[in-house]
Amino acid sequence: MKKQTVAFSRQSTNLFFHILTRCNLRCAHCYINRDQHGSNTLSLDTIKAWLGIFSSKAKDTNLIFLGGEPTLHPDLASAIGIAESMGFKSITIDTNGFLFHNILDKITPNQIDFFSFSLDGVSKRINDAIRGEGCFDAVMSGISRAVEKGFSCSMIYTVSEKNIHEVPKLPELVKDLGISRFFIQVVGMRGETENTDARHQVSKSIWQKTIPKTAEQIAEQGIIVTYPKVFLTHEETFECAANVADNYFIFPNGRVYQCPLCEDFPFHSYEIINNQLMPRPKINEKDLFSLQIPEGCVMNKLIQPGNLSYDDNEFPRYKIACCMLKEELYP
Ligand code: SF4
Ligand code: SF4
Repeated sequence: MKKQTVAFSRQSTNLFFHILTRCNLRCAHCYINRDQHGSNTLSLDTIKAWLGIFSSKAKDTNLIFLGGEPTLHPDLASAIGIAESMGFKSITIDTNGFLFHNILDKITPNQIDFFSFSLDGVSKRINDAIRGEGCFDAVMSGISRAVEKGFSCSMIYTVSEKNIHEVPKLPELVKDLGISRFFIQVVGMRGETENTDARHQVSKSIWQKTIPKTAEQIAEQGIIVTYPKVFLTHEETFECAANVADNYFIFPNGRVYQCPLCEDFPFHSYEIINNQLMPRPKINEKDLFSLQIPEGCVMNKLIQPGNLSYDDNEFPRYKIACCMLKEELYP
């Protein structure tokens, strides 16, 4: 088994394209904030024009269609066709599993790289308490139908205080699902939903006791596992992805962020105006990225300081890594 920290790179671009904010669910930890991101559904012409902004570097760009629930968009299949013809390096669809508009019948497995399914509990009880009644069955059935049709599938599990206790049962759950990648995420304190325990991050000791071990057990089954590093020692190098990588989080109201933790604020670096990517005037998120603090990530300190801990001299015991810094395990 090979383990590596995925280095940030400007050579490869990641485009997280929210083509709508509408969703059939109301997950307790949903990161969508309609006050900030609007309620537009982008037309196919607009999707094409906005993809066109990045088409000159499409061959080095990973494109992720998300929402809301992207399969609620009636033209998702056509949008995928357009992205394919522009030559994007990879195309992923992040879905809650309901797979609307018969999307599995409208595209073929060679058009996309992954369907990525969100599941937040190993038991129906925990998953559905977070994501809503019927979601466990919907996601399991969605994975099974997609695998049967030959699509490559992955799973995303967002860890919080509410579901960490089920993490050790994940290797058993994923055993015969037919997925080839597994993503563990840490929940973020953002979005418009209420402050429930599904929004609370777990402590450093619980994270470190649980996550790397479970990730290894999943990888032993031949599945590539990616999980966020979250905590750094003072000896480890901290880097802010916004300074050293090339990520764009696009929302259907035209806002474009470089950092997902900034998404609850009108702090975006860019805005798409008349189908062009325009830099925004100061003050914006870029003004935060260069700040050096002993706690590591500046945005983490501002919006979720509860995951920091200080010694008697009020010095942080560890740094919080960029939320996009990942460990990857290859079977
Ligand atoms: S987290 Fe995703 S699936 Fe859940 S309500 Fe939000 S957009 Fe919908
Ligand atoms: S999460 Fe923190 S370190 Fe990462 S891009 Fe945002 S501000 Fe920078």
